[in-house]
Amino acid sequence: MKIRLLPALQDNYMYLLIDETSKECAAVDPVEPEKIQAAVKEEGVKLTTVLTTHHHWDHAGGNENLVKLFTDLDVCGGDDRIGALNHKVNHGDQLKVGSLDIQCLFTPCHTSGHICYFVKGAGEEPAVFTGDTLFQAGCGRFFEGSPEQMYKALMETLSQLPKNTQVFCGHEYTVNNLKYALHVEPQNKAVQDRMAWAVEKRAKNEPTIPSTIAEEMSFNPFMRVCEESVQQHTKQSQPISVMGALRKEKDSFKA
Ligand SMILES: [Zn+2]
Repeated sequence: MKIRLLPALQDNYMYLLIDETSKECAAVDPVEPEKIQAAVKEEGVKLTTVLTTHHHWDHAGGNENLVKLFTDLDVCGGDDRIGALNHKVNHGDQLKVGSLDIQCLFTPCHTSGHICYFVKGAGEEPAVFTGDTLFQAGCGRFFEGSPEQMYKALMETLSQLPKNTQVFCGHEYTVNNLKYALHVEPQNKAVQDRMAWAVEKRAKNEPTIPSTIAEEMSFNPFMRVCEESVQQHTKQSQPISVMGALRKEKDSFKA
């Protein structure tokens, strides 16, 4: 598989997921349809599928115009509020893009219909598109859900994926997220190292995406709610209470 990252709007990322065998591809959160159209043309591939993570405008807002530029698109998503939706998916549903296998993971909290898409190709490192659920070193705000739901999404669903799974999220928020991660765990070497690396990448205007699930578990406080250092910071010992306390603190955190 080939994954092409396409920056959009202020700090969003769209992606083209390409099956190099069949030359079929999917677009993830194609908020700027013309950019998708140009990339599809450049790659010489056939767009068959739209993978929408959630209904927010900066992710799903391009769907209506995209379906006017292409024919027979399978527009997937887990929420009836998603524009041009013609394939509602549920947890565990399987999709195909050429020879690639895609599994839908229901991860409600940021929105009540949020879906992450886990992709496997023969003999390759897997990938997951996490929208606004899991960011590098952070997670999405709990607009339509509870700490318990984000705990389930991060700790029971995403952290159970193979550790080498590459994580492609919906926004470039990494440096700001790491500032908060350092506030939570100032002594965590993985956070310190990732910060130095991320600052360098952004200075060159390069994306910090992707990370891996193993890396997230080493530096993302929201995936470390079972670690003693994070529990001590929040003065909580139950992982779900830790999750709630972290999100509450982060919501008003000024880096
Ligand atoms: Zn969102």
